[in-house]
Amino acid sequence: MGRIDKARIRDLLVELVQIDSHSREEREMADRLEREMQELGAERVFRDDAGERIGGNTGNVIALFAGSVPNAPALLVSAHMDTVQPGKGVKPIVEGDVIRTDGTTVLGGDDKSGVAIICEILRVLRDEKIPHGPIDCVFTICEERGLSGAKHLDVASLRAKSGVVLDSDAPGFLFTRAPGANHIAIKVRGLEAHAGMAPEKGLNAIQIASQAIANMKLGRIDHETTANLGVIHGGTAINVVPNLVEIQGEARSHSEEKLAAQTDHMRKCFEDVVGNHRVARKGEAITARVEFTATREYEAMNVPDASPIVQLIVEAGERCGRQVTVTGMGGGCDANILNRRGFQVANLGTGMRDIHTVKEWLDVNDMVLAAEILLEAVAINAARAS
Ligand SMILES: [Zn+2]
Repeated sequence: MGRIDKARIRDLLVELVQIDSHSREEREMADRLEREMQELGAERVFRDDAGERIGGNTGNVIALFAGSVPNAPALLVSAHMDTVQPGKGVKPIVEGDVIRTDGTTVLGGDDKSGVAIICEILRVLRDEKIPHGPIDCVFTICEERGLSGAKHLDVASLRAKSGVVLDSDAPGFLFTRAPGANHIAIKVRGLEAHAGMAPEKGLNAIQIASQAIANMKLGRIDHETTANLGVIHGGTAINVVPNLVEIQGEARSHSEEKLAAQTDHMRKCFEDVVGNHRVARKGEAITARVEFTATREYEAMNVPDASPIVQLIVEAGERCGRQVTVTGMGGGCDANILNRRGFQVANLGTGMRDIHTVKEWLDVNDMVLAAEILLEAVAINAARAS
């Protein structure tokens, strides 16, 4: 079995995190990975038009590798190129096997750890001439902004029907279940008036929104459902009765029914309250109003434990002396989208830690473990077919 090179995977990660790639600005990363894929012997490397469609400066990078065992089922391996903010000018600090930031930016191990793992296994496969089936590599854009790259991924040329996304924290964990989510946007419309001269002519949108929110179930709703209001803006001056409050939030659940019920509950909290607020102006009754919009951010995913891809990764883990834990996660990732688009894809942990914070760090040994499991899976997949 091939050897994952710890120093090499660390050096690649350290290089990649220093390439700025905020969402919609992934071009430099895409250029770098295109070169890497060509050097690693991809039969075809190209970018799709997802970037144009979502206002980014580059598309998803797709690299197709032929494989020496052509009748083995093609495998999809995927990671995202973009990072959250603040992610520009990352200065990685290497302390032994641990890599962290200087505390001013995220590290971007989410998801460059996944990218580096994919590059490393392709290198080992090539250098050690390990028999493998066709491999479809997908490096997506804009995962951190609504999974937009995966939503617009050009899947026409992909041969694989199943595979793994490398985009979660715990090494040795395979995430197969994730909630669906609704993005919720609310506008509460009251009526503007001078707060000192004629407050009775106004409808205070801040107060109305507050009443609705006070009645609302938020946070952990049950073991598979959560809800949050995370952004609120309203009002213009302390002496003006505010006529508009804008709120944004979300609801998530592993159950479609519960997601719909929680979303309806949040809508109803606003609708119940606005009707109680009205004033007469020029003989006309004016009532507060609410505009409530729920848009689907992503669908729930649920890859069965008995599916071939889950079984393959579990077996690969065993052969590496590591029990892979198959479990659910609370967030969404590209796998949510890919599963809805006809693929069977689970999310293998890479060792990224404290992600989306400036304290983000990782231990290279965790990346090595994930790479060993993935490499073993590729080898088993080929051995079964030959
Ligand atoms: Zn990620």
